[in-house]
Amino acid sequence: ATPTALMVGSGMGAENGVLIRNGEAIQTMKDVHTIVFDKTGTITKGQPEVTDIITAQNYSHRKLLKLAAGVEAGSEHPLAIAILNKAREENVKPPEIKGFESITGKGVKGRIDGENVLVGSRRLMEENDVDLSGFIRDLNRLEEEAKTAIIVAREKEVIGIVAIADALKEDSIKAIRELKESGLKTAMITGDNERTARAIARKVGIDYVVAGVLPDGKVEEIRKLQRKSGVIAMVGDGINDAPALTQANVGIAIGTGTDIAIESSDITLVRGDLSAVVTAVKLSRATFRKIR
Ligand code: ADP
Ligand code: MG
Repeated sequence: ATPTALMVGSGMGAENGVLIRNGEAIQTMKDVHTIVFDKTGTITKGQPEVTDIITAQNYSHRKLLKLAAGVEAGSEHPLAIAILNKAREENVKPPEIKGFESITGKGVKGRIDGENVLVGSRRLMEENDVDLSGFIRDLNRLEEEAKTAIIVAREKEVIGIVAIADALKEDSIKAIRELKESGLKTAMITGDNERTARAIARKVGIDYVVAGVLPDGKVEEIRKLQRKSGVIAMVGDGINDAPALTQANVGIAIGTGTDIAIESSDITLVRGDLSAVVTAVKLSRATFRKIR
């Protein structure tokens, strides 16, 4: 890094909540074309909560929650935690589960009382020949409301939907607006489904959405954007964001995120709010504008 870059790196950022781990990256920041944001835990708070429960005929709310919580008890995914919290609130005790399996980026499954229970995305259901046709309207509506609709199936039959919402961080809308005003393009990348992702992007003002990305697919998406648009910054918090943060020209980690994301980043947002991304862009442009 140049001496100027190091100077910026050691001093100016810190008091603004921007921790610069790599002086060259703050210099590269002024040339960024598109900033790509992870969704959960980056744009949203990452503390999803159950908002709606829809059941098939012959199933009570409690019975559905019981089966869903039973399978999710084996998972540490934020969506699993939301379902388990809801079960606890309603004094529903998760039943014993056998043969738990996590299908990364899609959901979970296991056997309860000798029956196969599947909990997860539309894609997971389609891959397991679960017929969704009676629930498409509900699924579409919930997803349009920016909720993640988790489907619960017993054998091949849908027994209900648990909808989960994750609130936006307080400053996400403002930060995205300011980045766009600075002439930057914004994008969002997520494992969540297309409709939910678009609804959240619409709320927050993000222009371009890449949805349904499996955890190890984020790197390739960053490469594609680099070929298409040039210099890319990526903002993320999760374990599965780490390779993409390394691949991006500037990797920016949420300071409240996972250690591996922070270690893979050039810049860390100490407080975890997105306004510090705006600060980093301004800092870079102000410092390096005339030095070439
Ligand atoms: P994100 O990008 O939001 O972190 P993931 O890649 O972890 O999403 O998961 C993608 C999708 O897979 C989720 O939106 C959900 O539909 C489904 N999924 C993943 N884990 C679980 C789980 N434990 N229970 C139910 N659904 C899950
Ligand atoms: Mg995340």
